[in-house]
Amino acid sequence: MRILVLEDSKPTQHLLRTRLEKEGFIVDTADNGHQGFQRATSSAYDVILSDIQMPHWDGFKFIEAIQVVSPHLPILIITSTPDDPKMLERLGEAANVLGVIAKPFDFDDLFKRLASIPRLEHTSVNKKAKIVCTIGPASNTPEMLGKMILAGMDVARLNFSHGTYEAHEATLMAVREAEKAWEKPIAVLQDLCGPKIRTGLMQDGAIRLLTGEVLVIQAEPIEGTVDRISTITPIILADLRVGDPVLLDDGLLELRVLKEGTDEVHCEVIVGGMLKSSKGINLPSTALSLPSVTEKDWQDLDWGLNHSIDYVALSFVRSAEDVWRIKNYIKSSGKRNLKVVAKIEKPEAVQNIREIIEVADAIMIARGDMGVELPAARVPRIQERIIQLCWEMNTPVITATQMLDSMTVNARPTRAEVTDVSMAIKEGTDAVMLSQETATGVDPVNVVRTMASIICEEERYSRPSAEHVEELEKDAAVYPALSVVANLSTTSATLLIDPDGTLYPILSKWNRKAPTLLVTKSLHVARHAGLYNNIFPLIIREDLGRTEMVFRSLAMAREWGYVHAGEIIAVVEGARVTRSGIRQMAAVQVIRVERE
Ligand code: PEP
Repeated sequence: MRILVLEDSKPTQHLLRTRLEKEGFIVDTADNGHQGFQRATSSAYDVILSDIQMPHWDGFKFIEAIQVVSPHLPILIITSTPDDPKMLERLGEAANVLGVIAKPFDFDDLFKRLASIPRLEHTSVNKKAKIVCTIGPASNTPEMLGKMILAGMDVARLNFSHGTYEAHEATLMAVREAEKAWEKPIAVLQDLCGPKIRTGLMQDGAIRLLTGEVLVIQAEPIEGTVDRISTITPIILADLRVGDPVLLDDGLLELRVLKEGTDEVHCEVIVGGMLKSSKGINLPSTALSLPSVTEKDWQDLDWGLNHSIDYVALSFVRSAEDVWRIKNYIKSSGKRNLKVVAKIEKPEAVQNIREIIEVADAIMIARGDMGVELPAARVPRIQERIIQLCWEMNTPVITATQMLDSMTVNARPTRAEVTDVSMAIKEGTDAVMLSQETATGVDPVNVVRTMASIICEEERYSRPSAEHVEELEKDAAVYPALSVVANLSTTSATLLIDPDGTLYPILSKWNRKAPTLLVTKSLHVARHAGLYNNIFPLIIREDLGRTEMVFRSLAMAREWGYVHAGEIIAVVEGARVTRSGIRQMAAVQVIRVERE
């Protein structure tokens, strides 16, 4: 049986460890709640013995966190005040707390209690890849968001295709409250709706289109009938050419243009069916004159620039130029360092992918619209190629849409969905995204927990591909320090002191074995880093000298449970000028974590 002892008093820790080990138990120890949480979530224990009063995180906070991550992992509370009624009342509400062990210990009683605990499988959530969660009515409270953070959420996505500014502001505040409560930097991604083309309203909310019939799409708004519908984006009519396909409602229905016109276009219904009001229209073969960034997008971007947003995602990007325009606008506003995510969903974007990756700060493989704009059968190959290119170009990439879609209504994913998430991790994605699963689904925390456990399982086996190794060797000439770190096999973590925030994107791609702990002064850098695979920020705000910075960050890494006494870690320092005036791009040292 594996036991985690969580106790800040060293003599008590020692006493428990020696007695339990003598009885044949496997024992690990940690000093406080932060450490304990990291330990408990990175290893499979059968039971936790936890003091209720601890420095930093107290025992109650630890119990709450474990309830979210491993709801069935039993906890026995250690206390010198076993009859305290307030404590007993609070513990009574925690289903995973089996009981209280009084100090000084009655070891016979403790061994009896341990013998009665059944062995269960507990999953680890100590993942390297990141999880982006779309926030909606099912998840927009600080309490729910806090649980999602514990379960493994790294980035919160606000979808600007829906909702008012007031609602987005309330969600943003809730994310910031949860981020503060659980002390984990969370990036907020504002997803701009882009030129999403939609139908107008339908008579009685829906009409049935019959295959082979003629349907007119007109500019003038009307309530749609089986003969005639309108679009809220009439400018597209002039772009349609005879023979162009017109896909409705995520491609479930299909039309083909028979007759062109600026006021109305005649189409044949190729695949009929029910068409509801305000459904999406996709025009995969039409050269659109519609701007890539709409009036609404510019207004929404202004909102983002005035709020605490970290990433902005641009939908239906066609070229690198689209991304440049947004980046220039952000820069000239002088307001905040918003990073730009290019959503790849149009055939033009797939064609121009290299140029787009070069200018974008991050990429999202938006498989939902991509599977309508392009044959869905091509999506897996495109995904693989984009992930590979992003790896080569040190750009973070999010694999998005329908990853655990069935969990919007079900408690368990389909086997195909599990395989889909695993494949994206195997291909090297930085992040995976949840959409309606967390925005409107029945149990957002369960979805995040499930996603985290799939990631963890796959990461146990993922190895860099031959292409990755080859790329690494090419880049080693520029950043030998990073190359050394990526090839060290004995280190259990890398402490990266990177004041300019220039090295972590590279190390995120190169080193996916041991975690990279990014030491930064800036909460903004820490939030941005949240999207990058295998990067975990530690914030130290003071201006410290080199040696002091290494000591301080090491102490923090220990307190949070990332490194332990006796382990070997790499310390990488970013650009600096040596005492003799040599400009170094990066320097590496290997150190052993001392016993206290
Ligand atoms: C997608 O189409 O896959 C996507 C992420 O975009 P949205 O959810 O905004 O339609």
